[in-house]
Amino acid sequence: MSKDSDIAIIGNAMKEHRRLRRQRFGVPCPKCHMLQPKRDATILMPQQKCKVDGYRDPRPRLTQEQEDNLWKELGFERVNNA
Ligand SMILES: [Zn+2]
Repeated sequence: MSKDSDIAIIGNAMKEHRRLRRQRFGVPCPKCHMLQPKRDATILMPQQKCKVDGYRDPRPRLTQEQEDNLWKELGFERVNNA
């Protein structure tokens, strides 16, 4: 039942969510810093592996609550249709 405009809104929201997530939780790869200090380090999310040097970020994955909180910041609330 979505109109094209709704799809565009959802698409933008998901882009915003990704951006906020990265801004909030992304950290520069420490191994990139060591190996190639002049290059911009890869930004890693929790549990993400650096494609350049294979370093894996040791932080636990974001919890559903953390994901939901990001959505809330963007003005979305999780709706339980149970
Ligand atoms: Zn790296």
